[in-house]
Amino acid sequence: KPQSWEARADEYSLYGFTDLPSVHQRGAVVLTHGEGPYVIDTNGRRYLDANSGLWNMVAGFDHKGLAEAAKAQYDRFPGYHAFFGRMSDQTVMLSEKLVEVSPFERGRVFYTNSGSEANDSMVKMLWFLHASEGKPEKRKILTRWNAYHGVTTVSASMTGKPYNSVFGLPLPGFIHLTCPHYWRFAEEGETKEQFTQRLARELDETIEREGPDTIAGFFAEPVMGAGGVIPPSEGYFQAIMPILRKHGIPMISDEVICGFGRTGNTWGCQTYDYMPDAIISSKNLTAGLFPMGAIILGPELADRVQAAVEKIEEFPHGFTASGHPVGCAIALKAIDVVMNEGLAQNVRDLAPKMEAGLRAIMERSDHIGELRGIGFMWALEAVKDKATKQPFDGSLSVSERIANTCTDLGLICRPLGQSIVLCPPFILTEAQMDEMLEKLEQALVKVFAEVA
Ligand code: PLP
Repeated sequence: KPQSWEARADEYSLYGFTDLPSVHQRGAVVLTHGEGPYVIDTNGRRYLDANSGLWNMVAGFDHKGLAEAAKAQYDRFPGYHAFFGRMSDQTVMLSEKLVEVSPFERGRVFYTNSGSEANDSMVKMLWFLHASEGKPEKRKILTRWNAYHGVTTVSASMTGKPYNSVFGLPLPGFIHLTCPHYWRFAEEGETKEQFTQRLARELDETIEREGPDTIAGFFAEPVMGAGGVIPPSEGYFQAIMPILRKHGIPMISDEVICGFGRTGNTWGCQTYDYMPDAIISSKNLTAGLFPMGAIILGPELADRVQAAVEKIEEFPHGFTASGHPVGCAIALKAIDVVMNEGLAQNVRDLAPKMEAGLRAIMERSDHIGELRGIGFMWALEAVKDKATKQPFDGSLSVSERIANTCTDLGLICRPLGQSIVLCPPFILTEAQMDEMLEKLEQALVKVFAEVA
């Protein structure tokens, strides 16, 4: 039997989403507990987790109020479902709360266990709706390249990443439009406005070509997260929303990362000023303490889906743990903590410092091509040459090297493509932000000196 925690992790795990050369170089990190924004491993080493776990541990790793809410609910009523017209009081209260804090004046909520399942369920709900309205051929789904919507068969098909080809995905009928990343995808001489207009035209032409009556819905993250923190290009949502409206295509805002404060506002659609037809929430919804996803339908979809359900007298879909009482109790507490205990405010207060610190790092470096982000989600893009935007080559990517060096220095950040992503917990103090920026810069200087 292997001795160390790291060897035991290697021996028994099938790592998901893990760059194996990188883990082989560095070794696994096995964690035992957390303190504020820090996680601590089996050797007692502390790491500032500038990744918030996976964007979700927004209240840090030892929030007493959240743990107490969970414990109290486990003691009171530790589990139930939401089938057959039965559900916990916590489920009812959370649905009310989610509609109240949503941008919608009315709505309905449906629960899942994850963001992937929420997107997958939303697609099924749209297929169900359109079929019920006499349009069963309205099934195609529009998303964008670089979008991340999850890993189930349907949500992976929505995810616009080349790696899904190893599964023979996407399924037919999932169409990926151009990623709204001006810096990377603009044509020679194209202004930001022209770029956005080109993408809007592409959407319109795609809908015309495919036929509006074959398209079930359009899904978008306000800021692409796992695509490498890509805020929309200038005026993007203002340009595409009228096209979707014109063709009667529901717009679903995937707020799994952006929801509940990551961009500074409660929702990313508020930050970018558009009104979707439904919102997908997960991750921050429970501050990472419980696996839960939610679909929040705005008034029009809520009415249409409800009418469709009444027609066949059932919506034949749901998960054993949909609307789990403990998950709902935690979510109610998490929403209160984020919105009323100053966490979202801290994001708004410290975002300018984070941006300024990262911008200064970029200016001091010859190998950071772009800084992009908003609120508490930022990415620095590593390039061999700033002028040509040419990436570094090599089998272990430069971003993996940077992330490994950060880990050695006690900082966890995420390599995504050629970029390094920082999305710290909302409780981060100014001093902890300084620590994050200092360690990041040390790692960048060291790795760029090695590879340049
Ligand atoms: N949608 C977005 C925008 C995400 O970032 C993620 C996960 O990172 C998902 C959906 C999938 O959520 P989950 O991993 O909970 O299935």
